[in-house]
Amino acid sequence: VIPAPFRYRRAASVAAAVHLLADDPGAVLLAGGQSLLPLLTSRARTPATLVDIGGLDALRYTGLDGATLVIGAATRHAELAAAAVVRAHAPLLARAAGLVGDAQIRARGTLGGSLAFGSPAADLPVAALALGARAVLTGPDGRRVAELADLAVARTEVLVELRVPVPVDPRWSYQRFSLRTPGWPVVAVAVVGCLSPRVALGAMGPRPLRAAAVERALAAGASGAAAAAAAAEGTDPPDDLAASAAYRRHLARVLTARALAEVGR
Ligand SMILES: Cc1cc2nc3c(=O)[nH]c(=O)nc-3n(C[C@H](O)[C@H](O)[C@H](O)COP(=O)(O)OP(=O)(O)OC[C@H]3O[C@@H](n4cnc5c(N)ncnc54)[C@H](O)[C@@H]3O)c2cc1C
Repeated sequence: VIPAPFRYRRAASVAAAVHLLADDPGAVLLAGGQSLLPLLTSRARTPATLVDIGGLDALRYTGLDGATLVIGAATRHAELAAAAVVRAHAPLLARAAGLVGDAQIRARGTLGGSLAFGSPAADLPVAALALGARAVLTGPDGRRVAELADLAVARTEVLVELRVPVPVDPRWSYQRFSLRTPGWPVVAVAVVGCLSPRVALGAMGPRPLRAAAVERALAAGASGAAAAAAAAEGTDPPDDLAASAAYRRHLARVLTARALAEVGR
């Protein structure tokens, strides 16, 4: 289907993008277009104006700031998967990026778009949550840093950077089950660390979430297999064509057990 008519503005800088968004209540950001364009062509969304930040090369970088990995929001999934600094310091993130969609989607889709769109099943937000990463946003009121667990991006804000503390314990695992390859995960589990692991779940609720009951059991000394039995506690998985809620709870337990075994618990 052909999208409804819209104005197209190409932002020359983050400041210009914020200005364009603030000035036009019908304006939304466009980055890689891999989530937004299908919504436009189905007319599920009909924004008056698209403010394109996909060409902002200033937001396309990976690097280290002390013990923090910094990644620009316009970095493509393929660039994230290939970046030597990411593979060295947060290989979980590189691995998750390499599993997103197919090569064409990874060549266009951006880290910022994936985090801002907030699909509950998306790979990068789950990995970033397990890593304890934080998002940097710029808006009309200036700059703020937000935790990913409750990330809410206002229409007038631009997510500019992801800041990932380099894990002290380098052990990690990423487990996902999908109905086809390439394909969205039906459930995804990311684990970082072995002694005090952070465990994050994808597609087990309206947004990626920490498996708090699993983390508590591990902190109390439970084995990985025993702790994984609590993986579905406190979750609210969807019941849809890909899987029933009951099957997702089962997958969460199985994939969490596998991930914990991989990090040595
Ligand atoms: C067929 C298909 C399969 C896919 N499979 C997977 C998969 O397996 N795993 C997975 O994780 N993802 C998958 N995706 C989604 C893909 O990862 C998208 O690239 C990503 O979710 C959105 O990034 P984008 O840059 O394309 O954002 P866009 O589509 O351009 O934008 C998405 C939303 O985010 C907002 N936005 C974009 N950038 C910013 C920013 N910097 N600051 C604030 N708001 C912003 C936009 O306004 C829009 O609302 C798939 C997509 C398709 C089409």
